[in-house]
Amino acid sequence: MAASPLPVIRHFLLAHWRWRFLRGERLERFQTRRAESIIAHARHHAPFYRAHLAGHDLRDWRQMPTIDKQTMMAHFDTFNTQGVRRAEAMGVALRAEQQRDFAPTVKGLTVGLSSGTSGHRGLFLVSPLEQAAWAGTILARTIHHLPRKPLRVAFFLRSNSNLYEQVGGRLLHFRYFDLMQPLADSVAALNHLRPDILVGPPSLLGFLAEALRRGELQARPSRLISVAEVLEPQDKARLESVFEVPVHQIYQCTEGLLAVSCAAGSLHIQEDIVALQAEPLPGGEGRVTPIVTDLWRQIQPIIRYRLNDVLQLETEPCACGSPYRVIHAIEGRCDDICYFETRAGEARPFFPDTLRRMVLLASQEISEYQLVQERQGHLCIHLEVAPHTPFDDIARAVQQSVAATLEGYDCRPATLIVEQGLLHVPSGAKRRRVQRVGPG
Ligand SMILES: [Zn+2]
Repeated sequence: MAASPLPVIRHFLLAHWRWRFLRGERLERFQTRRAESIIAHARHHAPFYRAHLAGHDLRDWRQMPTIDKQTMMAHFDTFNTQGVRRAEAMGVALRAEQQRDFAPTVKGLTVGLSSGTSGHRGLFLVSPLEQAAWAGTILARTIHHLPRKPLRVAFFLRSNSNLYEQVGGRLLHFRYFDLMQPLADSVAALNHLRPDILVGPPSLLGFLAEALRRGELQARPSRLISVAEVLEPQDKARLESVFEVPVHQIYQCTEGLLAVSCAAGSLHIQEDIVALQAEPLPGGEGRVTPIVTDLWRQIQPIIRYRLNDVLQLETEPCACGSPYRVIHAIEGRCDDICYFETRAGEARPFFPDTLRRMVLLASQEISEYQLVQERQGHLCIHLEVAPHTPFDDIARAVQQSVAATLEGYDCRPATLIVEQGLLHVPSGAKRRRVQRVGPG
């Protein structure tokens, strides 16, 4: 379902205006006005919120009880304001993913599925108007200078969504690339497209940097945008040195558009889109976890939603002059890549998001997982499952899912170990769900 261009343009202009003029008390008043309106709407139309926020004064919205992904998914049917049932939405989303149909809708709403950073699957529902608002806003925040001719954008992601197809029009020529297609094919297509902006997970951008160094990739984008995985400083430095262009970031999840890099390269919280409250982590030495209130979404209201991400906030203001807070680092997402052998005997990289889905889509009963690869073609899978669930059934489902995924990507079967229970993680250590500990 294509959004009409008018709301996109309207939100593009409004987002520009807010970025320039909303600051200080004005920004706080804006957040409060939007939050109160969203909360009132949620209370009126979503039975979950009516009960959850009963007895709380709207004016104290910054102190209201929090929710998280488990709460949202457990109460999905009454959490959204349209009465969309979880089973129906999940069925549509899973079917779409299997059939690689990227425009699934329920009651005219786009439905999407994400495994999310916390490892639990989240379902999202957005209306065409919300999509238009998102598209207009993200264009306003990522296109820092109006181009003389349309920018060509190459966007690598695992599964497309019609959410992304909305971005375009006169500003952009948008081309979607499947993250799992062989690198040589992507390189050939990029050489043909010659994108101005290259968007993808940093692990994929790293492969393209290698291809550039080897002289295979001839496309010379003027900017890279990292999405979907942690962009570690050494990756960023390497990408910038190989491509000789800035690497920016979009920090977005099921729960909303959280942060986008400005022209100066700082990852600014989108304070006019989400009210992000930073809760200090015990013993985290300045690290915080975000509690997010989306100031716009009415279909699936996100009110005081606790994310599992670990962030470090910047203490110095940005050189660009924007007062929107800056995220110094997103620490909490895994970014290792595992390798399996193709039938032709080559090493094939599997990106963390693929690995995560490969495990989590096998069973709804998996509550937590860790993957360790010590050598190519081997994988040790550690699972925590819902209480009173027969582990053998889940282990079998996971083995089947891994086998099917490897088969789907023309790889030889892997040697798998599936174990119940998680590995001990030393306190304070960075949590990495996917780890490649040996040589590729
Ligand atoms: Zn800035």
